[in-house]
Amino acid sequence: MPNDFGPAVALSCRECGARYDLGPSFACLDCFGPLEVAYDFGTVTREQIAAGPTSIWRYKDLLPVPAGVAGHPNLQPGWTKLVKADNLAAELGLRSLYVKDDSGNPTHSFKDRVVAIALEAARAFGFHTLSCSSTGNLAGAVTAAAARAGLDACVFIPADLEQPKIVMASVYGGRLVGIDGTYDEVNRFCSELIGDPLGEKWGFVNVNLRPYYAEGSKTLAYEIAEQLGWRLPDQIVIPVASGSQLTKVDKGFRELIKLGLVEDKPIRIFGAQAAGCSPVSTAFKAGHDVVQPVKPDTIAKSLAIGNPADGPYVLDIARRTGGAVEDVTDEQVVEGIRLLARTEGIFAETAGGVVVGVLRKLVEQGVLDPGAETVVLNTGDGLKTLDAVAGSARPAAVIRPSLDAFRTAFAN
Ligand SMILES: *Cc1c(COP(=O)(O)O)cnc(C)c1O
Ligand SMILES: [Zn+2]
Repeated sequence: MPNDFGPAVALSCRECGARYDLGPSFACLDCFGPLEVAYDFGTVTREQIAAGPTSIWRYKDLLPVPAGVAGHPNLQPGWTKLVKADNLAAELGLRSLYVKDDSGNPTHSFKDRVVAIALEAARAFGFHTLSCSSTGNLAGAVTAAAARAGLDACVFIPADLEQPKIVMASVYGGRLVGIDGTYDEVNRFCSELIGDPLGEKWGFVNVNLRPYYAEGSKTLAYEIAEQLGWRLPDQIVIPVASGSQLTKVDKGFRELIKLGLVEDKPIRIFGAQAAGCSPVSTAFKAGHDVVQPVKPDTIAKSLAIGNPADGPYVLDIARRTGGAVEDVTDEQVVEGIRLLARTEGIFAETAGGVVVGVLRKLVEQGVLDPGAETVVLNTGDGLKTLDAVAGSARPAAVIRPSLDAFRTAFAN
């Protein structure tokens, strides 16, 4: 009995199109290009989707998962809020703006989406240990998913991550390993580990299970379209670390058009990076097709990938759709966090600050059309990166519990 991957039929090379059986592989044997999941979709209707669960599993017929996936022990991520951000829109001079708030996921970042799909693949391939190289959020999403599914976890992070992310990744159990190095070094180490008897039987969600993992990001596109009443926005701003999320959100929108679930229309896709780790934005502005690796130095640690695997595809998509890739300083990241919190009551992690900062910059530069409908992604919770804004946060006054004291402190 072959494994059940629902509508997925093969892996295909993004560069040369070579096809492979669905398996725990991620690179083309001919050209070393990345492998992607290929589908043979049946008929999928809006009604069918709407009748599904309020999680990413309402889109199971568009994902490499078995039909019974909603009944498997997993964290049921997704179906997060699409918040109409009228106050922020007014402040920036935009006609219509939405925040897709993925801090509402089970481990408070968008990574629960991608891990849920990789978990199904791990199950299908008989892996008993779930693993990853992580910039922070992925580690917590993996240890939580493994706990719920009854699998072992062993996750790898740069040792200098934010404390809340270290706490989250360890509280669910499993093994958390800090590596003295950058994310890119952690990732290279994991690639070596897969080739060693120590790690060859492990499911690394973003390495040997990457084709499946990556498909999870499509659900952001599906949800945005469905929550807008089955239409596409005009513009979207997406954070870029490896570039996988942006690449797959684009794929998700194109699938909806192809399946006739939304009307075809142009959508401009914008990528957002921190200036301290902006290899893709630098290449975009220079007109290059090749992304030069950098050594990250930014408070936006969840986006601190200096050698982004999908960087060239992000460049292609931004150019093809009439978008752009832009970056903002750490100071502007903090301003972005504060702006979103102050206008909409949404407390974003640094990645969200990057997106809001880039949104503002693109509006000011006249690159984004203020009259067009815009969606921005908040991919993580501000409680995970408290230090970014903790410095200036303190009570306006500390007083005795008496009216007199209050009057004195706040007179005129
Ligand atoms: C991982 C992550 C992203 C996007 O990562 P990609 O590697 O580009 O897919 C965005 N925001 C947050 C908070 C993340 O943790
Ligand atoms: Zn190939």
